[in-house]
Amino acid sequence: MLNSRPTHNGALAGLYIGGHWQSGGDSLRVINPATEELLASVAGGDARAVEQAVRAASDAFPAWGRSAGVERGACLRRIAAGVEGRRERLIQLQSRNSGKPLSEATIDIDDVIATFSYYAELAEALDAQQDAAVELPSREFAARLRREPCGVVGLIVPWNFPMVTTAWKLAPALAAGCTVVLKPSEVTPLPELELADIIAESGLPAGVFNLVCGSGLAVGGPLAADPGVAKLSFTGSNAVGVQVMQRAAETVKGVSLELGGKSSLLVFADADLDLAVELACGGGFFNAGQMCSATSRVLVADELAEEFLVRLQARAEAIRVGDPLVPGVEMGALVNLAQYQRVYQHIAEGLEAGARLLTGGERPAGLPCGYFLRPTVFTDVPLDSALWREEIFGPVLCVRRFSSEAQAIELANDSEFGLVASVVSGDARLAERVANALQAGLVWINAPQVIFPQAAWGGYKQSSIGRELGPWGLQAFQEIKHVIRAL
Ligand code: NAD
Repeated sequence: MLNSRPTHNGALAGLYIGGHWQSGGDSLRVINPATEELLASVAGGDARAVEQAVRAASDAFPAWGRSAGVERGACLRRIAAGVEGRRERLIQLQSRNSGKPLSEATIDIDDVIATFSYYAELAEALDAQQDAAVELPSREFAARLRREPCGVVGLIVPWNFPMVTTAWKLAPALAAGCTVVLKPSEVTPLPELELADIIAESGLPAGVFNLVCGSGLAVGGPLAADPGVAKLSFTGSNAVGVQVMQRAAETVKGVSLELGGKSSLLVFADADLDLAVELACGGGFFNAGQMCSATSRVLVADELAEEFLVRLQARAEAIRVGDPLVPGVEMGALVNLAQYQRVYQHIAEGLEAGARLLTGGERPAGLPCGYFLRPTVFTDVPLDSALWREEIFGPVLCVRRFSSEAQAIELANDSEFGLVASVVSGDARLAERVANALQAGLVWINAPQVIFPQAAWGGYKQSSIGRELGPWGLQAFQEIKHVIRAL
């Protein structure tokens, strides 16, 4: 299915280091979650491979870091064009590896193209901005500002949006002039292997981009600890994010973290009910709810609650769950058995805690294999239950009522996370006021979860450290240098 490259005992080579494909030792079994069949084996790496990749990236850094922004921009454009050229194939691959419907995989791949194109533009603009004069309150000194790349950066990404989370880090890192060691998720390495193949064809100088597939322990840990890595950008769970930060602290590396969420959709009394139901389903069931930005808490004004629940139940039950490769399927499979069991566990604990199951909570009829789950809605969820407080990462919505604007805001903000929020209201002033009061990095008003490379991604509290996308995503990979000269 993938382009040919050296194989090791029938496994795909899982290392791309210094411009060459290599086979590692450990074999990762990559499963199609919709069929539970083996898709491929990938020969991944270990601490030695990480060391080798960091060395290759260090060797490539002086030239790449000094190259003109316009040259780096041209490379990013070639990568964007390469992704565009393999768009259909990548959509299929993404869908097969992660179980998401083709329609969602299409959004992912288009986002990847847009991200590389956007950072190409930013890279091209850098040359004119370099050495800009800085105004000082003195006639005796002159100053100029330089933005220089951090050095070798380690990028560690999860399985829920494999190519997207990679593009959000890789494109700005390359634009800034950093060289890179990327570690994809061991669950979904196939899209990134294909991306590496595109990069190999793009003419990027050898060693600028390196890829080491493998488990978190074998590859992620050594990458986080490697003294040759100047900065780590991590997307994943909070538990692992903390470990990565601890390893990074040993050599005082910069870290950017994109972690979990427990976000809310707030439906006010004057909301358009059909829109509210669509947005609740989108925020809860897109990617089978395996989104850091899932609005898994739905807060509804008392006045609307009854009618809203009737329509939400009907819409949730009408969602077409099934083979993600079949056009028209709206929800695919969860990514693997571990995640499937984890979500079931949350459902069982929610029932024990006294939450009321409105719909779902079981395997859909007619799908005997694959990690499928019916869209699930709970009401009366206790505020202290894990279902209400923890990230579920599955197609599970928890609905609660509110009686005032203040109560809605309080319920939404009562979380250790603060990634995103959605507001549904016919009153523009109320919606803007509520958006300002919510502790979240991104708030949508009467809108689905649209994402633009120009707008920042990241959250408050334990959801993030730093911001991705926009100029902030680029700055995360830059050092600031002032040069002050006596006149
Ligand atoms: P995870 O934390 O298990 O793994 C993420 C990555 O870290 C993987 O590549 C994994 O191999 C690696 N890893 C595991 N242990 C490691 C270690 N000890 N040292 C270094 N690396 C290690 O997360 P996941 O299950 O792949 O993804 C789901 C999580 O990602 C969810 O919590 C979700 O909220 C989060 N996420 C956040 C965002 C965001 O933008 N905030 C986006 C997507 C996913």
